[in-house]
Amino acid sequence: MKITLIKGDGIGPEIADSVTEILYAAGVDIQWDVQTAGAEVAESEGSPLPQRVLDSVKQNKVALKTPVTTPIGKGFRSVNVQLRKELDLYANLRPCYNLPNIKTRYDNVDIVVVRENTEDLYAGIERKIDSDCAESIKRITRNASERIAEFAFDYAEKNNRKEVCVVTKANICKLSDGLFLESARNISKKHTGINFREILVDNCCMQLVQNPNQFDVLLLPNLYGDIVSDLCAGLIGGLGVAQGANIGENFAVFEPVHGSAPDIAGQNKANSTALLLSAVEMLNYINMPESAKRIKKALFDTLNSGIKTYDIGGNYLLTDYTKEIIARL
Ligand code: ATP
Repeated sequence: MKITLIKGDGIGPEIADSVTEILYAAGVDIQWDVQTAGAEVAESEGSPLPQRVLDSVKQNKVALKTPVTTPIGKGFRSVNVQLRKELDLYANLRPCYNLPNIKTRYDNVDIVVVRENTEDLYAGIERKIDSDCAESIKRITRNASERIAEFAFDYAEKNNRKEVCVVTKANICKLSDGLFLESARNISKKHTGINFREILVDNCCMQLVQNPNQFDVLLLPNLYGDIVSDLCAGLIGGLGVAQGANIGENFAVFEPVHGSAPDIAGQNKANSTALLLSAVEMLNYINMPESAKRIKKALFDTLNSGIKTYDIGGNYLLTDYTKEIIARL
């Protein structure tokens, strides 16, 4: 099977090598269509996300993606936002659960963040009123809100989850967040087997740091989803282990939550776990559950043996960490 591998910058190439080596060692039958993107590509091709990258994902339907840097102050739109828009990847899915032997404040965290990916303040509708005043439009539509709510309930049903909790600030943004909430309420009526709960985003953040075990599936508009999913990443050991996926009707792009971490790039110190777990979800998505299970077990066995990268308190270099996972396959 052919799958696009979007190789970005910073730690992107190192973690991509680690994960493709692990998948190869596990005997996964994937042919990678490697597409580079990011700051260096912008220098040579005039855009950090050239059309060839989009064409490749459109052809292969599925991609694994490392972080890509959008050069700042050069007029380029965010690569991630552009990719999500062009491919209509309307659902951002971030499962957050404790991993073995990674000490965190809470045990048994098992939260799935479902974030609307196409509108809200990310629509990029901004204007400068004068030199001392600027404004951004927070656009919410019924179509997009109902579509993401349907995705969240559908995910909950297919994955044996018990509750969907919609997170808004509908007491202040009465019309925009109000519409998101109303849409979630409407969709919830079709899914009576799943408990439906509503919470305000400020209270949600406090509850997440005090008692995260009360949450199951969280459903959020774009901006709150971005912030809350990083908070949830913190609950399970940080960005190095936080996986993600962007899913639409026709295409899916699997990628870690973290950025390109330029501070540690090229030092063999990055953690490839977040990308590896994203790849595991990709394998489930393309109907290779046996390989997914086997790789996840090798990863868990590795962590259980106390083998960890620097970001989570270990002293293993990325290449050694990769070898240890392969040895346990
Ligand atoms: P962006 O704006 O692209 O999200 P950022 O600078 O806000 O980038 P990251 O690039 O995700 O955020 O990095 C934040 C911090 O987390 C950095 O100090 C980085 O070293 C660390 N970090 C992120 N990802 C990893 C990883 N996979 N392995 C180890 N450390 C990481």
